[in-house]
Amino acid sequence: MIRHHDCYEVACDTPDCDMWATSEHETPLFDSPEEAIGYVVAAGGSHIDGFLRCHQCAAAHQCEQDGHEWGAGELLPGVSTIRQRCERCLEDRLLAMA
Ligand SMILES: [Zn+2]
Ligand SMILES: [Zn+2]
Repeated sequence: MIRHHDCYEVACDTPDCDMWATSEHETPLFDSPEEAIGYVVAAGGSHIDGFLRCHQCAAAHQCEQDGHEWGAGELLPGVSTIRQRCERCLEDRLLAMA
C-alpha cells in the first residue's frame, strides 16, 4: 500500500535562527500547521500575531520587552567578578565587584 502524507515542518520566524540546528533529532514533521505551532508553543516558544518563535527566541523577545531576569550570580575565583545569567534567555553578563 502506498499512502501519501502531507507533512508540515516548523521553523522559527526570527531571521537567521535555525531552531533545529542544535537538535540531535531529525526535524519533526506534523500533520497540520496547528499541530506544528502547538509543538513549538508547548516547548516554550510563542506564536504572536502570526510570528512564530522558538523557545530561545521567545525568551530573548520577552527579555527585550521586560528586561532580563538576572539570577543570583556566581563569583568567579580570583578576578573579583560575578557572572550573572538570565534565567529566561540564558544570556550572561559579568559584573566587576566594587
Ligand atoms: Zn528562534
Ligand atoms: Zn534574558
